Amino acid sequence: MPINRRAFLHATGLGAAAAALTGCSEAPPKPFPFPGLAGKLSGPLVTPDHPGYQLARRSFNPLFDDRAPAAIAQCRRIEDVQACVSAAAAANAPIAARSGGHSYAGYSTPDHGLVVDLTGLSDVRLNADGTVDIGAGARLIDIYTALAGAGRCLPGGTCPSVGIAGFTLGGGIGVLSRKYGLTCDRLVSARVVTADGIARTVSASEQPDLFWALRGGGGGNFGIVTSFTFNTVAAPQLTAFQLDFPPGSVPEVLGNWQRWLTSMPDDLSANCHISGGSPSSCTVIGCFVGSASGVNPLLAGLIRQTGSQPAARTVTEYSYLNAMRYFAGCSTMSAAECHDQASGRSWNREAFVASSRLLPAPAADPAQIVSVFDHRTVYVIIDGLGGAIGAVGPADTAFPHRAALGIMQIYVRTSPVQRATATRSVASMRDQLTAVLGDGGYVNYIDPGMPNWAQAYYGDNHTRLRQVAQRHDPDRLFNFPQAITNA
Ligand SMILES: Cc1cc2nc3c(=O)[nH]c(=O)nc-3n(C[C@H](O)[C@H](O)[C@H](O)COP(=O)(O)OP(=O)(O)OC[C@H]3O[C@@H](n4cnc5c(N)ncnc54)[C@H](O)[C@@H]3O)c2cc1C
Repeated sequence: MPINRRAFLHATGLGAAAAALTGCSEAPPKPFPFPGLAGKLSGPLVTPDHPGYQLARRSFNPLFDDRAPAAIAQCRRIEDVQACVSAAAAANAPIAARSGGHSYAGYSTPDHGLVVDLTGLSDVRLNADGTVDIGAGARLIDIYTALAGAGRCLPGGTCPSVGIAGFTLGGGIGVLSRKYGLTCDRLVSARVVTADGIARTVSASEQPDLFWALRGGGGGNFGIVTSFTFNTVAAPQLTAFQLDFPPGSVPEVLGNWQRWLTSMPDDLSANCHISGGSPSSCTVIGCFVGSASGVNPLLAGLIRQTGSQPAARTVTEYSYLNAMRYFAGCSTMSAAECHDQASGRSWNREAFVASSRLLPAPAADPAQIVSVFDHRTVYVIIDGLGGAIGAVGPADTAFPHRAALGIMQIYVRTSPVQRATATRSVASMRDQLTAVLGDGGYVNYIDPGMPNWAQAYYGDNHTRLRQVAQRHDPDRLFNFPQAITNA
């Protein structure tokens, strides 16, 4: 047997077959699980022998580069998605939708399964009534660009290449959320292919249980969304700001930031970023719906309360699109370069391990929180919630953390070699924080090691989410380690 066949089998993840070739007594190679599927698709079915396979299976996080799906279906029509769901059900094989490929656990790229790649369904079409139809494979920056051209805005996140589907299904937090709500709060309806292969429209009046679940119940659980319709708002004039506080002042800044934020108007959002170190340092970064002259007195209040002058301070007015490009890190790029960043062609990829904890209310002892990050290599982002997010009840949508002050992300850059060390470090910080902050977490920062994960992500909404999943997917086709029905 030629050597390249053995290499091929290893590369495709068909390790059992490779072992058989070397004389070990393992099961014979399994046949391709999706025979006939390629002929039903309008786009390519990329299998391991295809020259585009390495690129097609790639996620944002290089730690998942070794994931070896049996095939990636590059869908162009809703019928393609239906064919994929039917093929996976017939083969009883793993299936996962992929929008932007940014899952923190690589759940959109299942080993030996079928990836339903929605990149080919990414149209953004504005309607006369101010709603927008967005294909489930669209990336955030392309949505902002299309909407801004028509003077409209959808509150979203910062990273340009995050996909609208995973982002919305988990809630969707960004710098405009305190003013305009989570992205899922602006959802009017969605088209979803459920486990029976049927394409359904879900909204407040059609399949309302599914509509409820799609707003915060997490990606991958109930079916494959092929498009969303959102309410937009008029694109606002924005001011971005950043205050870099000196090292050593983090407990004072964090303590005052959390009290200050609760007294701020919804027009202002502000996140607290902490760089762990010896000592740790922090930056308050945010956005104001309005002018620099409107936000400057508010920032002066934070600086006064903190008792520490920022070492650097920037306050800059932007159009809506330029503000989104600034937060996306695209300010110095052309529109085409920024699109390429978002399209997967030239992703600014980063290997990382992360987890999250809620900040339920202002912490009585911020120094205790900061001590967890001291002498560590870690980046902590606390997204400030409140405002329009908190105006929705915790059971009104599946996103339960409506009353929280913030969501803390614990993020460690790493490499494949250092992965185990990084995972232990993140887990240790997460678990130390549990004693101070409780056990809540954010499903969009999904952590495969999160203890009691269903409670952490969904709180009291988990029971109802389970019922919805069981009703629409009784055979548990949409399954992955932290699928709602697995807890
Ligand atoms: C660099 C970076 C920055 C981020 N910034 C923010 C932020 O500012 N705010 C925030 O809230 N989150 C943020 N996130 C988290 C992000 O929202 C989640 O990782 C989200 O799940 C990514 O969605 P995706 O479509 O890109 O990922 P994918 O990996 O494609 O999908 C994530 C999950 O959703 C499922 N899914 C994907 N498409 C569909 C579909 N069409 N139908 C059903 N299920 C589907 C997948 O199977 C998978 O389980 C960030 C992530 C990264 C890596």
